[in-house]
Amino acid sequence: MIAVSDLKKAFGNHVVLDGITTEIRKGEVVVIIGPSGSGKSTFLRSLNLLERPTGGHIYFEGVDITDPKTDINLHRQKMGMVFQQFNLFPHMTVMKNITLAPVKCGKMSQQEADHKALELLERVGLPEKADSYPDMLSGGQKQRVAIARALAMGPDVMLFDEPTSALDPEMVGEVLAIMKELARSGMTMAVVTHEMGFAREVGTRVLFINDGNIQEENTPQEFFSNPKHPRLKEFLSKVL
Ligand code: ADP
Ligand code: MG
Repeated sequence: MIAVSDLKKAFGNHVVLDGITTEIRKGEVVVIIGPSGSGKSTFLRSLNLLERPTGGHIYFEGVDITDPKTDINLHRQKMGMVFQQFNLFPHMTVMKNITLAPVKCGKMSQQEADHKALELLERVGLPEKADSYPDMLSGGQKQRVAIARALAMGPDVMLFDEPTSALDPEMVGEVLAIMKELARSGMTMAVVTHEMGFAREVGTRVLFINDGNIQEENTPQEFFSNPKHPRLKEFLSKVL
């Protein structure tokens, strides 16, 4: 679904990604871990060109989206993104947050979008919050709405950047539960997280990003029980 070839990203002289090559296959849940500042967000944001790579190529469903001639907006519609800070529109109801994009880009009528939004609110367990504003919701509820909003476009892949890092501990579980359900339904996912339990249980593959590269990449079982790179061993000894 996504193929990343020698991806490079520098901010000025600061090289953050130094030639990353990997792929995300249909139905995979790829979990990305690594130290703070190692480039996890930059990597994830590069996948839908929220960051413009300074080198290399990204192919999404066979199309080179790093080619300047590609209409990125067309492809972005197929990639849902969920951020640490929710990024809901504060002046819009939950319904409006969810229906805005599909209606605006002409994918659905308002009525179709409303119908779909209610279905999605059911799915994330918040049907009663349709007419609420974001500041009336808890952090966990906001993030579940953000997931529903991303799903409203019918994406082929979902990108999550530390979706539970801004939550109070008692709300982490409700968001992880939605993500687990999504994974079980067959959604292709790339997830940056510090939730090692999620990585073990739901991940099909785990990547360790450090020093601008993927230093280790393995099944969760092997990754956690038999880490090879010294930096990964050190990292795991601190977080597990
Ligand atoms: P992570 O998500 O792993 O914590 P990031 O991808 O956010 O790391 O950041 C990696 C490095 O890139 C950091 O040193 C950060 O300061 C730098 N960086 C990220 N975004 C920008 C930007 N827009 N401008 C300059 N430097 C940036
Ligand atoms: Mg980050």
